[in-house]
Amino acid sequence: MSINVHSHAFAGNPLLSKFSFSGHPLPPSAALEALNARIGLPNTHSYPSLSFKVLPFRNGRPLASSEASSGDSPPIWHLGWLGLDDLRVIFDNSGAQLSVDSLVYLNSSAEDDAVYWAIDVSAEVIELGSKTGLRFVELRTLMVATDWSDLQAMGNLAIAGHAKALLEWHNVSRFCGHCGEKTVPMEAGRRKQCPNGSCKKRIYPRVDPVVIMLVIDRENDRALLAKRPMRLHRLYTCLSGFTEPGESLEEAVRRETWEETRVEVGEVVYHSSQPWPVGPSGIPCQLMVGFFAYAKSLEITVDKKELEGALTSLMLSGTVEKK
Ligand SMILES: [Zn+2]
Repeated sequence: MSINVHSHAFAGNPLLSKFSFSGHPLPPSAALEALNARIGLPNTHSYPSLSFKVLPFRNGRPLASSEASSGDSPPIWHLGWLGLDDLRVIFDNSGAQLSVDSLVYLNSSAEDDAVYWAIDVSAEVIELGSKTGLRFVELRTLMVATDWSDLQAMGNLAIAGHAKALLEWHNVSRFCGHCGEKTVPMEAGRRKQCPNGSCKKRIYPRVDPVVIMLVIDRENDRALLAKRPMRLHRLYTCLSGFTEPGESLEEAVRRETWEETRVEVGEVVYHSSQPWPVGPSGIPCQLMVGFFAYAKSLEITVDKKELEGALTSLMLSGTVEKK
């Protein structure tokens, strides 16, 4: 048996991976100028060929729809992109004001000459009306429902993950951490600014590294997996945890493994990384960094507060495919 460990959810965002010098991606200042013209003055034709696509979120859940697929395959889901006119009608119907500052720029695409935005509508009373089939869906649900061999679907998952991370960052950075002043969005939502003249801090989204490690018993061809109390019955996963100030990623791997299982780790080998926008709320921009961690001791002592159980899982004929 071999295990494919090469798939990465939330990575490979097609809106972030296309760089060219032919006008795309549109810089935030130009995208914001076009948005201002389109929202404030509907008849103004700034960037007239551009189409606007907005992905609404409610409580961290993107708008999505699904359609039945052929045969026994699971349903295919689509992101619920709305046009500006759709969005304006929805806001008008709910008596709310659609503000340019509430939209966060994701990027543009030369393929469809479109600019992509996200908006948090958690505070609005939004009627989706005739948009049948559209609903707000947990990102983890979409992740599980995605065919990981479908590059387009994985790209859509990455776009939704990026948008969720940016919107949640806006929610947790409403006030300046230096002086307490209310922050204002800048550069089409790519950063924030403290307006206090004696502070003037520029605030950017920062990424929190989380280590995740497959702890391997080389001699006996086994790996260590664990179950957290709140996780689904029988769902065992790799150990993981946040890095702490003053430690390297490798040290975090060794510390987390020791704290949770009392297994001592020696060699730590980097595998790969992926964005992780579905971790604990309040920590919106996580980067999951994956390692192989080779055990030096094999005696497991579980911290019951953190882990319900840990087990050594035998990998029959057991090869973890490395890159
Ligand atoms: Zn400030």
